[in-house]
Amino acid sequence: SLRLAERSKWVAPSATMAMAAEAARLKATGVEVFDFTLGEPDFPTPENVCRAAQRAMAEGKTHYTPAAGIAPLREAIARHYSSSAGLPIDPQQVVVSNGAKHSIHNALMALCGPGDEVIIPAPYWVSYAELVRLTGAEPVIIPTTEAEGFLLSPDRFRQAVTPRSKLLMINSPSNPTGAIYDKADLEALADAVLETEVGVISDEIYEELTYDGARAHVFASLRPGLADRTVTISGVSKTYAMTGWRIGWAAAPASVSKFMGALQSQETSNPSSISQWAALEAITGPKDAIARMLGEFTKRRAYVIDRVAGLKDVSFTPPRGAFYAFINVEKHFGRTIGGVEVTDSTSFCQAALSSARVALVMGSAFGAEGYVRISFATGMDTLGRGFDALGAMLEG
Ligand code: PLP
Repeated sequence: SLRLAERSKWVAPSATMAMAAEAARLKATGVEVFDFTLGEPDFPTPENVCRAAQRAMAEGKTHYTPAAGIAPLREAIARHYSSSAGLPIDPQQVVVSNGAKHSIHNALMALCGPGDEVIIPAPYWVSYAELVRLTGAEPVIIPTTEAEGFLLSPDRFRQAVTPRSKLLMINSPSNPTGAIYDKADLEALADAVLETEVGVISDEIYEELTYDGARAHVFASLRPGLADRTVTISGVSKTYAMTGWRIGWAAAPASVSKFMGALQSQETSNPSSISQWAALEAITGPKDAIARMLGEFTKRRAYVIDRVAGLKDVSFTPPRGAFYAFINVEKHFGRTIGGVEVTDSTSFCQAALSSARVALVMGSAFGAEGYVRISFATGMDTLGRGFDALGAMLEG
């Protein structure tokens, strides 16, 4: 029989995708499920973006492109950093890939391997640890607490550094917590990083999705010299409701972007030509659809904060960015709900799905047992009825 490579033992399937699949399976049997697992905006991709894709097809822009992406898109991404953060980026430093997840994979493949450690503050986005393992490097998970705002302090970082530390991965605004590093906190972390030889992958995919006047900062721009050791990740998936188009990017020091481009040229050639032209329109075209989506997310966030406050025996800190609420449900551990003995976040999610038909993601998938993640990238009606069901289950 065909034997899998050793590597197959290092990587687990995406837990968020597994929960979404479980919810979908239940839905397919005709049961109504309130699906709060989704990590993608439920809005359609803006029309101007779709039209740009149609134009690209009509104009025959349907062939291979340069491996690292079409020149106008790389230029537009470079301009994004110079105009938003005063960070001078040469288009050669930008590599466009099949989604930000692919950009992170390429960056990790370029920068780490067996013997290296990668520091990841928890709660972290599910894929980080698995993508690090895939390179043969070792993820070193550093827990942060709700009391610390789920932020990595400079001292915690210093304590985590060993001679094998190669990289630190940060994500602000964060999936799953919605935490954002204020400028001063991020500068203090940057100073601690600059005391070491550690490089940084800064995942800024939720950079435009912030609330209550909070602002996300481009990490690489905060101190001189930081850009030489930082790979900045972002993309169009979340901001422009374009998850299916698969366009993300990395902005990296030239030697790193050169290798990432070479790697991609062997791995996947280039991201879809049509999607790249669409992404160019998203970034350079009118932004009114984005403002509308953000307005809707803002309303939902307020609603979710209000509803979570009404849930029995839970606690949480309102998210400042992204579209998730990360809720502590530990007080319900030890209960039996609808025949399910709730002992951890996974069994809590099983109980919620079977008793309340509410699909959530367990905190353990993010390295934070005791919590569950609710996505509010879903309509008000679903949110309302889902919270009713969840509320009744927790009272019961
Ligand atoms: N980074 C974070 C923190 C995310 O939450 C996601 C998507 O869920 C991604 C990266 C991946 O984005 P993309 O769809 O562009 O691959």
